Amino acid sequence: MSSYILLTGGAGYIGSHTALCLLRAGYNVISFDNFSNSSAESLKRVEQLAGRTLLSITGDIRDQAALTAVFSQYKISAVVHFAGLKAVGESTELPLHYYDNNVSGTVTLCRVMRHFNVKKLVFSSSATVYGDAKEVPIKETSPRSATNPYGQSKLMIELILEDLVKAEPDWSIALLRYFNPVGADESGQIGEDPNGIPNNLMPFISQVAVGKRQQLSVFGNDYPTKDGTGVRDYIHVVDLANGHLKALQYLEQSKGIEAINLGTGVGYSVLDMVNAFSEVNQVAVPYQIAPRRPGDIAVCYAEPTKALTLLGWKTEKTLDDMVRDTWRWQKHNPNGYRS
Ligand code: NAD
Ligand code: UDP
Repeated sequence: MSSYILLTGGAGYIGSHTALCLLRAGYNVISFDNFSNSSAESLKRVEQLAGRTLLSITGDIRDQAALTAVFSQYKISAVVHFAGLKAVGESTELPLHYYDNNVSGTVTLCRVMRHFNVKKLVFSSSATVYGDAKEVPIKETSPRSATNPYGQSKLMIELILEDLVKAEPDWSIALLRYFNPVGADESGQIGEDPNGIPNNLMPFISQVAVGKRQQLSVFGNDYPTKDGTGVRDYIHVVDLANGHLKALQYLEQSKGIEAINLGTGVGYSVLDMVNAFSEVNQVAVPYQIAPRRPGDIAVCYAEPTKALTLLGWKTEKTLDDMVRDTWRWQKHNPNGYRS
């Protein structure tokens, strides 16, 4: 019986790029997604790009019976757990929904994994667990805190998984702390497809460039940074997807739990991103300076050497790749997967 990697949330932005990466590396893939923030079209395109099929199962990670059915029917060797809600603002309005979906969903998933003795797990954590870090670059040992229910849900899941490994040391878990994922597969066939008005910088820039939005609001130009705008560690989603492949390979030969930053180690400001986007793609990105966005921090970038030492992974894509690939996806799919 062949074995599969189960991707929860496999149809989403990072999940679809990782599915493609794993299919190309020869793994069999099952996506388990309730499509609350994605469409099956992304997975169809992944199959076309890979020239291989995957199994797409519609289901919710809070549904223990549905997960049990999947684990009963297929031999799962490891789980990459992307499924979760991720909008910071929405999480402050709907905290119970976020804790239920993200935290309860993860507990249910782990319960089913344990029942079937599947104990290799890659979890989508986030640099948000560092709160407003005192020192950059941010190391994995930096203190953790959260300022909103979304971040709190990631932090709670990290703590739950740490307790699980203490109680049952035969688990192998990687907590991958993503910095700011951007970009798209270079085919322009799959990419980020936000619902409604984008919260994140890159999809907003590309929607301005394509004429869907009038101008970008730059949230604050009075931060203590080189040009006053916020600095982040933008990471190409294809590099990020490759980090999951490396993490799975690492879990093959290790037990316990490791938190690992996935970032480039380089910070770019909002204006760096706007300028790179318009220069590389030869397209205008009108913007205005607006007040700071509540809850934003000035600077955030990774110390990425643990990922290199432990996983043999580092980023390969450049800032030009990030803005070029984002634009190719946006231009070819002005309305995302509904185009
Ligand atoms: P996404 O919304 O595109 O993908 C998440 C997927 O999970 C979606 O396809 C959604 O339909 C599915 N999903 C949500 N709740 C589910 C449930 N209860 N059962 C089954 N499926 C469910 O988001 P993404 O950007 O691909 O993010 C993937 C993961 O990485 C998330 O956990 C997110 O919190 C985390 N993360 C994302 C970023 C980022 O900036 N994109 C940064 C750090 C961490
Ligand atoms: N940002 C901005 N305008 C926008 C969206 C974001 O100026 O419309 C800035 C934001 O203040 C931050 C950076 O871009 O400095 C990255 O924001 P994003 O929401 O993409 O990621 P975050 O790091 O906040 O998770």
